Amino acid sequence: MIPLHNEPVPASADAVVVGAGVNGLAAAYELARRGMCNIVVVEKNYLGSGSTGRCGGGIRQQWTTEENIRLAKESVDLYENMATELGYQVFFRQGGYLMITEREEDLPALRNATALQNRCGVATEFLTPRDCLEIVPDLNISELKGATFCPTDGTAYPFAVVWGYARACHRHGVKIFIRTTLTGVEITAGRVTGVTTDRGRIATPVLVNCAGPWARSLAGMVGVDLPNRQERHEIMVSESLKPFLDPMVISITNGIYFSQSMRGEIVGGIGDPTEPKWDRPEQFGFHSGLRFAVRFARELTRLYPRAAQVRMMRQWAGAYDVTPDHRPILGGVADPTGYYHICGFSGHGFMLGPMAGRHMARLITTGESDPLITSLSLDRFAAGDLQADAFVVG
Ligand SMILES: Cc1cc2nc3c(=O)[nH]c(=O)nc-3n(C[C@H](O)[C@H](O)[C@H](O)COP(=O)(O)OP(=O)(O)OC[C@H]3O[C@@H](n4cnc5c(N)ncnc54)[C@H](O)[C@@H]3O)c2cc1C
Repeated sequence: MIPLHNEPVPASADAVVVGAGVNGLAAAYELARRGMCNIVVVEKNYLGSGSTGRCGGGIRQQWTTEENIRLAKESVDLYENMATELGYQVFFRQGGYLMITEREEDLPALRNATALQNRCGVATEFLTPRDCLEIVPDLNISELKGATFCPTDGTAYPFAVVWGYARACHRHGVKIFIRTTLTGVEITAGRVTGVTTDRGRIATPVLVNCAGPWARSLAGMVGVDLPNRQERHEIMVSESLKPFLDPMVISITNGIYFSQSMRGEIVGGIGDPTEPKWDRPEQFGFHSGLRFAVRFARELTRLYPRAAQVRMMRQWAGAYDVTPDHRPILGGVADPTGYYHICGFSGHGFMLGPMAGRHMARLITTGESDPLITSLSLDRFAAGDLQADAFVVG
C-alpha cells in the first residue's frame, strides 16, 4: 500500500506540486532527494489517472534532433537504474524499437537519423526489410522500404513507475493528497505565496505545474499563457499471450505502434489525423470508439498478420499535451516568481518525465538553469526558436 493522506492539507509547504503523474511524482521525488522538506503533491483524481496511466509505456532514443536524442539517452540511463533507485519493480524491458517505413522518401531521413544517433552514442542500426525479419519474424515486409532498430530502447509499466515514485516520495517525507483539486493560486507582489485546494489553503512560495493536459488551465490561474493544445489519442490492450514479440514496432508512415508487455498483452495505438486540437480535455472527453478499434485492428493485422488471432480486451483514450514544436516546456517565468511548469510533452512525456524532474529539481532548489532548461523554456515560442523533430509519431 502507498500511504496517501486523507486529512486536511497542511497550512504551509515549501513546495506544492500539482499532478500525480510521472512528471509530478518525479519532480517531487527529485526535490526531496535534493533536501527540500515539506513537499505536498495534490492530485485531483488518483495516482496516474491522467495521461501517464493511459500511455503506451514506450521509451525510445530514435529521434532526428541532437537535443531529443541526448534527452532520451539520459532518460534511458535513468530507466535502467530506476528499479534499484526507487526500490520498486517498474518492468523496464529493453526489447528495442523497430522503426519502420513504407515510403521510399523516408529512407534518407532514417539513414541520417541513424548516423546522428550513433554520433550521440546510441547504437541504432539501419535495416533492410529482410533484416527486420530477424527481429520480428512474422512481420509483413511486402510494403516495407526500410527500418531502423535501437536495441536499448524499451518499455516500462506506467502504473509501476507511478507507484515506485509515490513510495520513494513517501520515504522522503513528501505528502501526497489524492482526490484533492487545486482551485486557485495566491500571488502577492509578483510572487507565489499560496494555493487554495478543495481541502483547504496551503501557504507556499513554490508551485510546480505538472498538470499534464490541464497544465494550460492551471497556468491561466497565474496569468501565464501556454501555447499547449490537447489532442485525444486512443490505445488498446489485448488478452495475455506467451511472449513472442520482443521490440516495440512503430511506423513513421502512419503512426501505428505495438509492443508486448511483460504480462504478455499486446499494447498498441495509432494516431488519427482527423483528431482536432482543443484547449481543454473536457471539450472532448476520454471516450474511445469503434473507428479506432477498426483502424487499429486493420493496420495491425496487415503489418503483423499473426495478430489476427489475438483478442482485443480493452481500449481507452487519453490526451497528448501538445506544444507547437512537440517539445516540452520546462522552467519558470519572470512573473510570478515561484511558479514553474513541467508540461507539453506530447506523446513522449513518460519517457522524458524522470529526466525532466531531475533537471527541474536542480533549477528550483539552486536557481541554476542548464542548457536543457534554457532551450525548453516558454520564451522559445516568442523568440521563434523552434526545432521540430521529424520522428514525432503516434
Ligand atoms: C494513448 C497515449 C499513449 C502514449 N504513449 C506514450 C509512450 O509510449 N511513451 C511516452 O513517453 N509517452 C506516451 N504518452 C504521453 C505521456 O502519457 C504523457 O506525456 C505523460 O504521461 C505526461 O505525464 P504528466 O505527469 O505530465 O501528466 P499526467 O499523467 O496527465 O498527470 C497530470 C495529473 O494532474 C492532475 N491534475 C490536473 N489538474 C489538477 C488540479 N487542478 N488539481 C489537482 N490535480 C490536477 C490530473 O488529474 C493528472 O493526474 C502517451 C499518451 C497517450 C494519451
